[in-house]
Amino acid sequence: MTRIIAVTNQKGGVGKTTTCVNLAASLAANRKRVLLVDLDPQGNATVGAGIDKDALTSTNYELLMGEAEAPEVRVTLEDGGFDVLPANGDLTAAEVALLDSEARERRLAAALEGVSADYDHIIIDCPPSLNILTVNALVAASCVLIPIQCEYYALEGLTALLNTIRRVQQTANPALEIEGLLRTMFDPRNNLANQVGAQLITHFNEQVYRTQIPRNVRLAEAPSHGRPALQYDRASRGAIAYMALASELLRRERRAAASA
Ligand code: ATP
Ligand code: MG
Repeated sequence: MTRIIAVTNQKGGVGKTTTCVNLAASLAANRKRVLLVDLDPQGNATVGAGIDKDALTSTNYELLMGEAEAPEVRVTLEDGGFDVLPANGDLTAAEVALLDSEARERRLAAALEGVSADYDHIIIDCPPSLNILTVNALVAASCVLIPIQCEYYALEGLTALLNTIRRVQQTANPALEIEGLLRTMFDPRNNLANQVGAQLITHFNEQVYRTQIPRNVRLAEAPSHGRPALQYDRASRGAIAYMALASELLRRERRAAASA
């Protein structure tokens, strides 16, 4: 069955896009069929996957507005091993247009229906906001992956995010689960990072991935080459950490399937 993973945190710059692109590449390296959905008008996941976001004839704007179907919008990467539903600045207009349109929270869910059977995993990169685009991701998703940068304000926005998730669970998507919380840009030599990391474990226990993503310059450089770290420098600590995350996620999936 296809698992649709919304990668979300309304805090900016916590590693959502980096996680989406590198997890997509790592799952693909495990022979999973993967679709990466860019739901952020910044288009960072699109660019990070090596797509020229300004040369696109159709994007997720057309998809959400019902002007194009997913197979027309999707881009198959030559050597990346996964497909992309791309976005650019046009998506900002969808935010406004959706506000007074019918079934505005279900647009993405409906658009993915026709293609989801083609994939084992669909990964959705959300914008840094709890807006209608993020709600569309949560309504379409089977689960949520929350990247967290372990610093002083890290936990502050988490309550608002968990409330939004709860609201979606109570209304449009009762099956929505929290897949896990991921510590990103983690520096084990930093006391505060360790404290916040420990606090996360206290509150969320097994929902926190044992895999931590270290701060690694290769992860920051790779997007400017339009490649996941796994292709840019497969021996880098960043690429290895995201491979470990994919393994942990697949292990959890197998465990859940076995106990179901
Ligand atoms: P936004 O909220 O703007 O969408 P985001 O949550 O998607 O941001 P990213 O774009 O993934 O965050 O990361 C923010 C910045 O930090 C980027 O420049 C990225 O290259 C860098 N970065 C992310 N993760 C790491 C890491 N583990 N090590 C080093 N740099 C990182
Ligand atoms: Mg981003």
